[in-house]
Amino acid sequence: MIKLCIPEIGLDEINAIKEVLESGMLVQGEKVFEFEKKIEKYLNVKNAIAVSSGTAALHLSLMALGVKSEDEVIVPDFTFPATANVVESVGANCKFVDINLESFCIDVDKIEEKITNKTKVIMPVQEFGQSSDMDKIVELAKKYNLKIIEDAACALGTEYKGKKVGTIGDLGCFSLHPRKAITTGEGGIIVTNDDKLAEKVRILRNHGISYENGKAEFVSAGLNYRMTDIQGAMALIQIGKLEKINEKRKELAEYYNEVLKKIKSIKIPKEECYGKHVWQTYHILVQSDIDRNKLINDLRENGIEANFGAYAVHNQHYYKNKYQIDGLENSVYAYEKGIALPLYAKLDKSEIKYIGDTLEKLL
Ligand SMILES: *Cc1c(COP(=O)(O)O)cnc(C)c1O
Repeated sequence: MIKLCIPEIGLDEINAIKEVLESGMLVQGEKVFEFEKKIEKYLNVKNAIAVSSGTAALHLSLMALGVKSEDEVIVPDFTFPATANVVESVGANCKFVDINLESFCIDVDKIEEKITNKTKVIMPVQEFGQSSDMDKIVELAKKYNLKIIEDAACALGTEYKGKKVGTIGDLGCFSLHPRKAITTGEGGIIVTNDDKLAEKVRILRNHGISYENGKAEFVSAGLNYRMTDIQGAMALIQIGKLEKINEKRKELAEYYNEVLKKIKSIKIPKEECYGKHVWQTYHILVQSDIDRNKLINDLRENGIEANFGAYAVHNQHYYKNKYQIDGLENSVYAYEKGIALPLYAKLDKSEIKYIGDTLEKLL
């Protein structure tokens, strides 16, 4: 079976983890701190805060901005539901916006109509490693005095007009889940150029503790969203591999496009919308008359692990019950007719060729 994704883990990670285990210092410490410094340098951002997952990063970002009950947050409808779940978990409401089928990111021309006097935050998702049209989002945020949290879970290294995504909004969130380019098993990162927000996030990550003259004071109702030093040690090795992994993924994605472009019933993804794409997922769309679920099964029968790429969130059980909204056609189309194909740095071009030949045979 050609797997959808295989993380890049070698002896270096195993040895780094072993060293931490043998030291007996397992919780957040030097390794996490060092990793945060590396991320600050890589993204050219003032503060990086490592946390236990991408979802934790998003949740803490909303908490740090004081988003609360009855507030509204603008989210794209086509994403992994964690983007919306965190909004609900602080008691706020989601305002779902349709996506653009070129980038699979939020359709910026449909944001303004969803803004009300309760709106506090726009949360664009840098879907599959492609950037949203951030200029328009920044302009709207300024016009209506809103904050921006970038869900850049899939987009470590992605650029928008030469700038690293995650550093354009007030806060940016990344994931280190095994489905992303680099991983610590579970893990996340929050970045911000705002020192005050960074301080809030650091306090909230650690039970709401602030150290006043060396004494722990519980200054807010925080959580424990810390990253362990076991993960920190692994992260330090992984971040060293990121650029190489992203380059390789780009090369393979471009090869996929070359192989698949001749198949008429497939729409291949755009290589770049506003800058560097890191290809966390290689995501195609099939023509509306094709049974996507059957195609996924047929691919599996041919030894190819494929899956749908993301969800139309408003159609998922909880959101359907709560909001009862229709429309959002592009999101629904991407959810029903999208397929994520295998992509990881060690995938061989001959395997991509085989996947292309199999798709051609099946369609
Ligand atoms: C992976 C992902 C998340 C969640 O990250 P975790 O680290 O799994 O919690 C959130 N949003 C998007 C867009 C993602 O792809």
